[in-house]
Amino acid sequence: MKRRQLETCIVGAGMSGLLMAIRLKKAGRPFQIIEKAHSVGGTWRENRYPGLTCDVPSFFYSYSFEPNPDWTHRFSPGPEIRAYFERVAEKYGLLEHVRFGETISAARYEGGAWSIETGRGDRIRAEVLVDATGPLHIKNYPEIPGMDDFEGALFHSADWDDELDLRGKRIAVIGNGSTGVQMMKPLAEQASELTLFQRTAQWIFPVGNQRYSESQRRWTRRLPILGWLTRQFYKRLFDLASVGVTQDGYWRRRMKKGCEEHLASVRDPELRAKLTPDYEPGCKRLILNRDFYRVLERDHVHLVTGRIDRIEPRGVVTADGRLHELDVIVLATGFRAHDWGIDNVVGAEGLSLAEAWASGPRTYRSITMPGFPNFFMLVGPNSPIGNISIIDVSETQTRYVLDCIRRIEKAEGRALAPKPEAAERFQAELREAMKGTVWITGCNSWYLDPDGIPTLWPWSAAQFHRVMRRPEFGDFDWI
Ligand code: NAP
Repeated sequence: MKRRQLETCIVGAGMSGLLMAIRLKKAGRPFQIIEKAHSVGGTWRENRYPGLTCDVPSFFYSYSFEPNPDWTHRFSPGPEIRAYFERVAEKYGLLEHVRFGETISAARYEGGAWSIETGRGDRIRAEVLVDATGPLHIKNYPEIPGMDDFEGALFHSADWDDELDLRGKRIAVIGNGSTGVQMMKPLAEQASELTLFQRTAQWIFPVGNQRYSESQRRWTRRLPILGWLTRQFYKRLFDLASVGVTQDGYWRRRMKKGCEEHLASVRDPELRAKLTPDYEPGCKRLILNRDFYRVLERDHVHLVTGRIDRIEPRGVVTADGRLHELDVIVLATGFRAHDWGIDNVVGAEGLSLAEAWASGPRTYRSITMPGFPNFFMLVGPNSPIGNISIIDVSETQTRYVLDCIRRIEKAEGRALAPKPEAAERFQAELREAMKGTVWITGCNSWYLDPDGIPTLWPWSAAQFHRVMRRPEFGDFDWI
């Protein structure tokens, strides 16, 4: 007798949701994707600011089974990455499975399946629910008094207005994370005055963005092994670098030395002092960039480290009472990484995910939750998002989910959820391993949950792939 195949509902058509869909499609399993926007690409659709790139080399930040010989740069620009995901979605026939412009208002596990209510009031029933919404899409707006009074243009970096003419404008960037740093060079080329408001200095590791020539791309097209070798090289490099953030030792020292030497290249001692962090490199997400300091040394670019007091119609007022007159203010203030996941997911015991996570997210291997049967999170809390290519992580996680789905199908109508003691054991191991990481050495970052515990993977990339290679079904309950 042919076994009944499970229906899967994937939430989010970004990098990990598309990947899950490809795996299911290849395995001949039914699925649909709910996507709040009107196109695929997730973070690469939402972010369009000037200078946007991915700080993971493109040959590594692409699906292993879908190499692209045509990357133009080591770190290719955002629109190229977005086009890559759109192409892949089309090639694998995923678009017909996506309900665009649709949100999820609630999902409840009842009667042996997930009952999912959409924002338009439709109901979807699916045995498996995969949350692929990602950690970095809810914008973090700073609470600065007077923001609504500003007479110029003020917007979050993820709300970039492509029509805005920046030439000759006095522009401010608030925030110096990866986003703020990346946009400085292109903005400096257009602005009459560019001011960066920095609350905390950042460590910057110098890595240039090499351009691939037409002839290099031709060779990679002809000899795909070249692309594969490049990918393996960067994978190895990132795997080694990931050791630097999770363990003290050679790689951490190497990271520190690279950052310190780079900082020393700032000639003006006053500027250098302002740019000097008071915490360990890697504690916040390390920024890879080689232009930032040079941009700050230009005459029309200013670094302000005084606290922002308020925003007035004409600009930003710092605590020293000075008004910085502006035409454009960009809030490069990041995302609320801890408002993780679909709102209002209610598990088998009537408990919502928000309630279960009242004191921080507590998963089993970052992918499943006790009490939430057949519910899987991609790039969920405690995934290795701060240290290795998130695509590499998702490839392993989606394979794991597919293994679970195959096993659930064999269980004839029963669902699986991790045993509470398995999740507790994993959490205890996490807490212990966090002690060796650089993330807890004394800085504030979006990595930390409200209790100050990093929601990252505290072991190496190699260990992640080993542990997640296949599910240990003994750690699950059948419901
Ligand atoms: P972020 O790293 O969270 O940085 C936010 C910045 O805004 C920080 O400098 C923060 O200062 C500042 N800020 C926040 N609230 C503020 C306030 N009220 N007043 C003044 N300053 C304030 O955000 P992000 O730069 O958007 O990057 C987020 C993550 O997105 C990155 O870590 C990365 O994972 C991802 N990303 C990746 C790439 C890539 O190339 N792969 C590119 C962009 C983004 P404090 O440091 O003092 O908190």
